Amino acid sequence: MLRLKCPHCGERDHSEFAYGGDAGVKMPAIDNEDFEAWYQAVFIRKNPRGRHLEYWHHVQGCREWLKVERDTMTHEIFSVAAAREVEEGAQ
Ligand SMILES: [Zn+2]
Repeated sequence: MLRLKCPHCGERDHSEFAYGGDAGVKMPAIDNEDFEAWYQAVFIRKNPRGRHLEYWHHVQGCREWLKVERDTMTHEIFSVAAAREVEEGAQ
């Protein structure tokens, strides 16, 4: 069972969260008309064994979107941060 440490609510059971997808995918610009770029971003995914960046939504808590680094094999959690803070900091 996964336990995620929400930066706002503290450590909670994963049942409070909803998986939101691969956080390593860079989506094309909204006005990009290249079908292949959208196809790759929306439908093509790696299936990593090991560390992976994911979005999780704290649906039954603060409703914050989180960026979680998790090992897909052991379920070890390496980091949890508010996605908007991580992504604002990266720009
Ligand atoms: Zn929370």
